Amino acid sequence: MPMLSKYRDLRRAIRDDAIVPYFQPVVELSNRRLLGFEVLARWPESKRGFLGPADFIRQAEESGLIQSLTESLMCQACKVASTWPGSLRLSVNLSTSQLRNRLLARQLRSVVEGAGFSMDRITMEITESALLGDVGTARDVVRSLKDAGIRLAIDDFGTGYSSLNHLRALPFDILKVDASFVRSMTLRREDRKIVAAVVGLGHSLGLTTVAEGVEEQVQSEMLICLGCHVGQGWLYGKAVPAAEATEMVNAEPSRELPSYPSQDVALTVVSALEALPGERLAQLRAIYEGAPVGICFLDRQLRYVSLNQRLAEINNLPVEAHLGRTVAAVLPRVYEVIRFRLDAALKGEATAFEITMEGRSLLANYQPARDEVGEVVGVSVAVIDVTRRKQAEHALREVETQYLRAAGNSSQVAWTADPNGLILDVHPQWSLLTGLPQEEVLGNGWQQSLHPDDLPHVLSEWSRSIMTGSPLDVEYRIRCADGDWLWMHIRAAARKSEQGQVVRWYGTAEEMGREARGHPPVSSAQTGFAFSEQS
Ligand code: C2E
Ligand code: CA
Ligand code: CA
Repeated sequence: MPMLSKYRDLRRAIRDDAIVPYFQPVVELSNRRLLGFEVLARWPESKRGFLGPADFIRQAEESGLIQSLTESLMCQACKVASTWPGSLRLSVNLSTSQLRNRLLARQLRSVVEGAGFSMDRITMEITESALLGDVGTARDVVRSLKDAGIRLAIDDFGTGYSSLNHLRALPFDILKVDASFVRSMTLRREDRKIVAAVVGLGHSLGLTTVAEGVEEQVQSEMLICLGCHVGQGWLYGKAVPAAEATEMVNAEPSRELPSYPSQDVALTVVSALEALPGERLAQLRAIYEGAPVGICFLDRQLRYVSLNQRLAEINNLPVEAHLGRTVAAVLPRVYEVIRFRLDAALKGEATAFEITMEGRSLLANYQPARDEVGEVVGVSVAVIDVTRRKQAEHALREVETQYLRAAGNSSQVAWTADPNGLILDVHPQWSLLTGLPQEEVLGNGWQQSLHPDDLPHVLSEWSRSIMTGSPLDVEYRIRCADGDWLWMHIRAAARKSEQGQVVRWYGTAEEMGREARGHPPVSSAQTGFAFSEQS
């Protein structure tokens, strides 16, 4: 019979397991973690040499051999995979005709379990076109597969007769975005929108989307941004024979230590999404990288579209762990505190605020980003970690309080001034001594009650100290509330930073003597202190 002889080689190949499963890795896009493999048929030693599915799947379908081919491949693949860690899954392709076989679920179960593998680690991939024709039977068969514990993927989504009815009516778990979309998405904005819509559709139906044909890093990054987190393609590996797949499994780093690839991903995402001309991209890149502040861009769903390394450090997570995920998912506790500010930013309100959490202080700035017609498309975020500055300020305040308290017990009145010489604080004893309100002295207020003859000298000394950081030592008269002149001896020393800059002036004012209204100065004559240059 000519038919028989036509398929004789194929039949024999299937019987002898000459057609073998090759394994293509399926990975988590953000960290390349291995999730499992798609099983792809190969006939390495046919009379015509190495053959791929295009050379024999159609004949297998025509001849009715496809079911035995699937069983043979699954049996071989399951035996290999039964030695792998339990979390790894296998995905197997089904042909249209197989969905007319009401015994399919039962037959597959006996193969899978016979090979020591488990049904709940199997995904069967079905193309959309398989669901045309006798939809009733196909539906029953698909349900029985599902009932047997198998997961179901709709393959090549978007290429065939995409019917949303299928997605709704059948119990799919996975939606595979066809490689043709992945290929074109980096080239055209429109294609990107289609992928975004497909991924969004998957999300809203509660399906996992898997991108096929990922060949370039930029595609992977863009997919993550669009919310697609699983993929396969040459970027992660071509289909390989069983032994190589096992090597891959064994080389997989432990799950506790996911390896994150490029640190620079966020920038590529910016370029990819906005398709910026090179020059502008270079500028953006420089701004992002050079910024001493953490920067990110959030879309309307508050997902990280891009962020710089600095922000990743502030958040204590790799760049990769942010991209495509929501603030709520990445930083659940922080999100509780900032959500209303983010919501305000999405409504068009810019905010700047300080957030203190877990011993850290951050200054954050949210800026709504608008598109050409003024609609808010996301939020641009800048964050500075001011924890160290806060700690330093706190320590400084403590010292000051102690200083003023301690100095207040002596005959000297303590005061502090900022690096520019503005009086910040003075001990209440000042008021007791002079009868002048404490507030009058603050800033440059002290100059008002100074004797006009003394003022020029004091100002020149004070400005010299402020400029050089050297100690101040001057005497002057001030007019008390009762009109008397009071001689004061003023001393001050600077507290300096590690870099030698003045951070505070600590001073004392000591009473030297009083002269009644209209009388010549007494104490200066007696002590000889007046207007003496500091030593
Ligand atoms: P498919 O299910 O869409 O499988 C993906 C195809 O894309 C595979 O081709 C794979 O090698 C190829 N591919 C994977 N990554 C990349 C990439 O990054 N770039 C490019 N350009 N291609 C990539 P393959 O193995 O030739 O399979 C072709 C088709 O044959 C499969 O398409 C599937 O529909 C069918 N097929 C393969 N094995 C079986 C099988 O055991 N049973 C059935 N019924 N069909 C099978
Ligand atoms: Ca497939
Ligand atoms: Ca496919």
